[in-house]
Amino acid sequence: MMPPMCFVCLRTLRDGVPFSSFETVRFALTPEEEAVRQEQHREGWVGHPPEVYWFCDEHLALGKEHSHLHWREAQELLANQRGEAR
Ligand SMILES: [Zn+2]
Repeated sequence: MMPPMCFVCLRTLRDGVPFSSFETVRFALTPEEEAVRQEQHREGWVGHPPEVYWFCDEHLALGKEHSHLHWREAQELLANQRGEAR
């Protein structure tokens, strides 16, 4: 698991945001990716999956709003929000 960094505002623990303010949001996978992920879990894989992102308490709602989207799509949409979030 990666250390927390808000996907929208890019704040981290170093910016004074407490760990408890961060939460992960899991975005959708294609059926193929889902199958691969399940296989990895069975094998005890502990990496950070690309469809999981950290959000700070300010942007968690925004992340959750997009959680039904495929992670690539959500990533693109949320990256576009960065300018406005700062
Ligand atoms: Zn944030």
